[in-house]
Amino acid sequence: MDNIQDLLQNSVTSTSFQEEADKQENILRPKMLKDFQGQQRLKDNLSVFVAAARGRQEPLDHTFLIGPPGLGKTTLASIIANEMDAEIRMTSAPALEKPKDLAGILTNITEGSVFFIDEIHRLKPALEEMLYIAMEDFEIDWVIGQGPAARTMRIPLPKFTLVGATTKAGSVSSPLSSRFGITCHIEFYTEEELASIIARSAVIMQVPIEQDAIIQLAKCSRGTPRIANRLLRRLRDFASVMADGTVTVEVVNHGMERLGIDTNGLETQDRNILRTIIEFYDGGPVGAETLSISVGEAIESLEDFYEPYLIQKGYLKRTPRGRMTTKLAYELLGIPCKRNMDDNQGILF
Ligand code: ADP
Repeated sequence: MDNIQDLLQNSVTSTSFQEEADKQENILRPKMLKDFQGQQRLKDNLSVFVAAARGRQEPLDHTFLIGPPGLGKTTLASIIANEMDAEIRMTSAPALEKPKDLAGILTNITEGSVFFIDEIHRLKPALEEMLYIAMEDFEIDWVIGQGPAARTMRIPLPKFTLVGATTKAGSVSSPLSSRFGITCHIEFYTEEELASIIARSAVIMQVPIEQDAIIQLAKCSRGTPRIANRLLRRLRDFASVMADGTVTVEVVNHGMERLGIDTNGLETQDRNILRTIIEFYDGGPVGAETLSISVGEAIESLEDFYEPYLIQKGYLKRTPRGRMTTKLAYELLGIPCKRNMDDNQGILF
């Protein structure tokens, strides 16, 4: 009995923790395009497409958002809905188990709504086929009955905008990706863009922070707004417990050291990944599965979270034969590079 009580208690605690984290994230989520920092080209184009669709009194074309986690895909989906003055329905592909789950949502959305599917690369094939017709013809085929008596009914749908988000554009089938009229690649943010995100979040969260500290924190935020906001919350804790409440450069440096984050935004696991490739696999190439086992990290988080930033920073390369470290990685870790890295395989430096 006690165990069940404990289990229930734990599940309540972890749900509340997740809810609290989501609530904190939602408070900081910009509502309109003008508040969405950075990604200037994407914003400029999107605002033209939104204005044109509004002018024609039509829903926006289906929109495909591509980029690593935490860069603002969910935020952009709700901004699109707000800018179009439309309702939004949000789900993620793993939550859609059966065709009836998808059909249930599609037949219940209202004219002009935005329908957001996160992690769209994980959509099951049967659901993907249903989505093709829904996106193109605003209809779905629904089979009634079984065996010889089965017949297909076409159900008309209200016109809607599908916003699909993925961290893995390469895993989305071309029939699906080609049905999106607008494709937005969200890039890692520059330090200046992150600094303006941090300044905005600090105002909303009422955290006193010095300008130098904003710049220092931006450097450590891995080009990612979600990380910048999360670190700001931790620094608020350090500042209130260990200083007078104001986040200064000293508080940032101290906090980052305690959290194992360097001024490139690299975490302990990033350095562990690079060190493992160098020390166990002589700098690579090493396959993603082998690497994920060696560093004790799920392959999804290795590929979606760690690798994109290491590649963007020039420490890692993906080659057809596997992952390889670059000269920069050796320099970062202070490991002398004994290997003669010639460029025959189109890799390294
Ligand atoms: P994703 O869906 O790509 O994982 P989210 O849209 O959930 O990322 O963004 C994570 C958090 O980062 C949001 O709470 C939001 O506050 C913040 N954020 C993301 N992009 C921006 C931006 N361009 N400007 C300001 N805040 C942003």
